[in-house]
Amino acid sequence: MTNVTGTDMRDPNMTDPDMRDPNVTDTGLRDTAVADRAERPEQVGDRPDRTPDHTLAAVWHGCDRIALETVPVPSLGPGEVLVRVRLATVCGSDRHTVTGRRVQPCPSVLGHETVGEIVAFGEGGAHAVDGRELRLGARIIWSVTLPCGHCDRCTAGNTAKCRTVRKAGHEAWDSPWGLSGGYARHVLLPAGMPIAVVEDALPDALAAPAACATATVMAVTERATPMAGKRVVVVGAGMLGLTAVAAAASAGAASVTAVDPDAERRDLARKFGATEVEPAVPDTEPFDVLLEFSGSSTALQAGLRTLDVQGIAVLAGAVLPDAPVAVAPEAVVRGHLSMVGVHNYEPRHLTAALDFLARTRDRYPWQDLVADPVPLEEIGSLLLTPPGTKPRYSVAPR
Ligand SMILES: [Zn+2]
Ligand SMILES: [Zn+2]
Repeated sequence: MTNVTGTDMRDPNMTDPDMRDPNVTDTGLRDTAVADRAERPEQVGDRPDRTPDHTLAAVWHGCDRIALETVPVPSLGPGEVLVRVRLATVCGSDRHTVTGRRVQPCPSVLGHETVGEIVAFGEGGAHAVDGRELRLGARIIWSVTLPCGHCDRCTAGNTAKCRTVRKAGHEAWDSPWGLSGGYARHVLLPAGMPIAVVEDALPDALAAPAACATATVMAVTERATPMAGKRVVVVGAGMLGLTAVAAAASAGAASVTAVDPDAERRDLARKFGATEVEPAVPDTEPFDVLLEFSGSSTALQAGLRTLDVQGIAVLAGAVLPDAPVAVAPEAVVRGHLSMVGVHNYEPRHLTAALDFLARTRDRYPWQDLVADPVPLEEIGSLLLTPPGTKPRYSVAPR
């Protein structure tokens, strides 16, 4: 293990945007080039421990402005991990960020579905969420959320809602965690980041989405467990919905109805274990479990009406404002109904996600959900004008 133990743990320039390489290249919708690339290929070997002192990052500057920039890699503090990115997939929430539908600090480096290899440790090294000591070269994924570990919510087991939570791919460049996002050659993982090791047989294209989509679905389906023998309806057949369809089918649901207005997605849902597919929530039969990923209040309203006695609705898609839904209290009382929300997930869901994908690798066509990677230079166009209808597009920084 390489321990990086410098006394000056952080490069003081790192949090000063003015000290970044001024040679900035816009990567939006137009042709892209890399700032200063010819002069500065990957600067591995700049430090005695052979960790890079600079890396390349796609920095989001607000609206549709994304620029590839050569940026400093800070010296690692105790417990920190430096990762070389192998593959980063584009989650829908990053699209919402660059199109202005959600608010996020900027400039920042986006990307929170990432798989990479460990290239350096800070003093003391780090451990995976299953307790394993992490080693150089390990292929890993990490959580979207970085909890403090000691507030009342963390100690109660709800680290996703830590009072001072920080998030991968969501932190301002001008903050203590500038290199937080996967749209870069390297990501810095602060001490305490939940990390899971990817088994050799699991391709990068399956592992990267596990860090957001699959792990979130593990948290969602946990709330509806057990699903064996249940009639399950999954609303929204994007990346999360399709994963939930597969999870319900794998858990032995009596039926899995996938709802999506898009015919192509409905066809995909059948390949992931849906027994029925519908363009809208059918009102002809009751369901025991409603898993909501569309974020549509109209769809949720229709779904709530179909819940049978002891039915449960788990909501995960409504991460943006939409119209309120009407709930009939009498129906909740007489029907013993439940409605719960899930946002992000706990560290255990990272390993659950990887285990689930490993278990079902040959059963469902996971690889079909992720487009072949393009260079980091093209991240701007992937975010702003995705070339097709794949649930996930990806970049592989070189
Ligand atoms: Zn996400
Ligand atoms: Zn906390």
